[in-house]
Formats: sequence, C-alpha cells, structure tokens
Amino acid sequence: MKMKKNEIHVVYGEDIAGMTRHLLETADLAAMIPSRDVKIGIKPNLVGQVTAEDGATTHREVVRALVEYLQEKGFGDLVVLESSWVGDSTEQTVRFLGYDRMLEELGVPFWDLQKDRGVSRDCAGMEMQVCERVLQIGFLINVPVLKGHCQTRMTCALKNMKGLIPGSEKRRFHRLGLHEPIGHLAAGIRQDFILVDSICGDLTMEDGGSPVQQDRLIAACDPVLCDTYCCRLLEIDPARVPYIGIAAGLGAGSADLDRAVVRAWREATGGDAGAPGERPAGGEAGAHAYLPAPDLTLKPTPSGWKDILRISEKAEAVDSCSACYGYLIPALQMLEQEGLLERLTEKVCIGQGYRGKRGVLGIGSCTRLFDHTLAGCPPTETQMYQFLKDFILAGEQEAE
Ligand code: SF4
Repeated sequence: MKMKKNEIHVVYGEDIAGMTRHLLETADLAAMIPSRDVKIGIKPNLVGQVTAEDGATTHREVVRALVEYLQEKGFGDLVVLESSWVGDSTEQTVRFLGYDRMLEELGVPFWDLQKDRGVSRDCAGMEMQVCERVLQIGFLINVPVLKGHCQTRMTCALKNMKGLIPGSEKRRFHRLGLHEPIGHLAAGIRQDFILVDSICGDLTMEDGGSPVQQDRLIAACDPVLCDTYCCRLLEIDPARVPYIGIAAGLGAGSADLDRAVVRAWREATGGDAGAPGERPAGGEAGAHAYLPAPDLTLKPTPSGWKDILRISEKAEAVDSCSACYGYLIPALQMLEQEGLLERLTEKVCIGQGYRGKRGVLGIGSCTRLFDHTLAGCPPTETQMYQFLKDFILAGEQEAE
C-alpha cells in the first residue's frame, strides 16, 4: 500500500542495495509517481570530494538501487542533479565519487547545477534564486545523508535542497542566517519522496571525516516530519533546529511526531534462519529477509556535539559559508590535538559579515582587511591549521 504522508519507514542492515529496495517496495514508490512520462529528479548529497564511507556523501549503492527500481517499473525519464558546496567543483566531485561512471552505465544523465543560471521563484513570500533546470522536474526524490552540521546542528531532507540553488544564493542564505531561507525553500520546492542515507553519516560535521556507523536507511514523504524524526535519532531537540519549525509554519510539512507512524525492519541474520520473517516484496529466493523491528524505530546515537561546541567557541562566525566554517572546525581540532588550541587567545573571525571590516585574526577573503588574515574563498583546512599555528607560535615568540 502507498506510503502515507504521516509514515516513516526505517530499515537496519548491511546490504545497502537490498535495504533500499526493501524501503522502495514498502513505500510503493512507483504508485506515488503520477505518470510513466514524468521527469523524475534524484537529488543526492554530493557536497564535495569526500566519500560516503567518510560520512559526507550519499552512497552510490542507494542511488543505483533507486534508479534500477524506477527503470524496472517503467520510468524512463530520470536525471540526477546536484551542485556541490561553495569551493568545490561538482564536476570533479562527481568524478571523484564515481557517480559519472555509474550513471553512464545506467543510462541516466547528470545535471551539474553549478552550470545553471538562477531564476527567480517565490518561496512562500521570500523571493529566491533557484537553478533553472530544477523547474523542469515533475517528481523530486531527495536522497540526503543524515549528518550533524556545525551551524544548523543537523542536516537532512530540508537542508539538502540547498544544492538546488546557485552559489550566489547559497552565500545569501548564510548572510540571512540559514534557518529562515531553508524553511522558505522547503515551501518553494516540493519534495515528493525522501530516502535518507543514514549508513554512516558524520554526526558532527557536514563535510565528513568522523563517520558513525548506523547501518540505517529511512524513507518518508514529508521532509519536515523526516527531519523532526531524524533530530530525535541524533538526540537534538527539533526546537533547536529553527528551520524545521519555520518550514512547518509555512505548510511544507508536519513536525508533529505524535501523529507519525513509524515502521521499522531489520535485515535478518544467520541467527534468524528458520524464523518466520518477511521476504522483501518482489524478493527472490536467496534474497535478504527483513524482519519487523519495532525496538529499533528509535536508536539514538551520541552526536559528539558537545566537543564541537567547545571547540567552536574559539571562532566568531558571522554569516559564514558552510564550507569555510566546515574547514575551520577540523583545523581547530588539529590544533587541539597538538595542545595548541588553548594557547590561541584571539577569536578567529570568519564569514561574510566581516567584509569591509577591520579586526585582528580572520579566515578567508571576507576578512582581508584584518591585521592577520588568510586569503582564499574558502581556504583549505590544512591552510587554516598552518596559518593559525603560525599565528600562535609567532605571538608566543614575540612575548618572550
Ligand atoms: S571567504 Fe567568505 S565568501 Fe568565501 S567561503 Fe569563506 S565566508 Fe564564504
């Protein structure tokens, strides 16, 4: 039976393709798509050149299984579309992650939205620039990675839509504080189905590096409900992720988990042999079995968020782009590992809010008028680490 708007389906296991297939069958995705001729857009998270195993990007296996399912069901007009974050080339990212080869094999085109011009769209009262070709999509399938985020605490279905807007608009989102525009974007671009890759997302940072094995995929039709549920998984109060409430208030979905129906399965293991279980619908002999697993509907994981909060106190971010801030935190972590962070007595200023302003210590071209500044838009985390290390050591030498 077709998945309802208030349903969330969760599956745990290790066979990524089989789990994907299982969720698509339990949701009856094919029945949700209005016609065989509709153009279906698949939006993974290809934020940058970091592998899925490192916790940043969508596993290719999920997208492959999704495409194969749709093709088997007779849907031929498919496209995968994305723009990586500011500072990374989508073209290089797609090549690095092997999406180019996979999609060629599957006969599915890829749209690099960094090459699109922006067109104006009213998103529930907020005028936004959206990548031109997004408006050609008739049915949008969002395939985000469930991750932590150093500015918004978490990122999943709602924030993944930021890959559908031009780079200049992404920068403006940061100037607007992220939450308000992300909420409005949810009302301006409709997501028809969400398939969350929660296999091993980094639960602290958007750009990966510290993956946490969760072995989980989640399906939903309502992006607001999906993100509310995922907050619970990360032990984050949804009220502390304001874009969820904003999106709900604008009619993009419901944040009411009490009305949600969560159905969960787990992949059968050898120990389940002979147990009365379910075969995935359409499954063949020898395919993995999936057993109802109500006890796993909510399996929280410590997010490590407190460590990030402590480290981020050294930074003074004003409207920083995700990439810039995302590189700064690991640079600060490296300094901490060397015992240098506590010796950093100046705040590190970062973000577009410092353009045209003066200060002492700044990261990125936006702080180019500062006494000590690192050029780049954004600079890499290694450059940031080296620059800050040099700053600390030079300051100590001067004091001696
Ligand atoms: S230097 Fe400024 S504009 Fe460039 S990535 Fe950093 S915050 Fe964004």
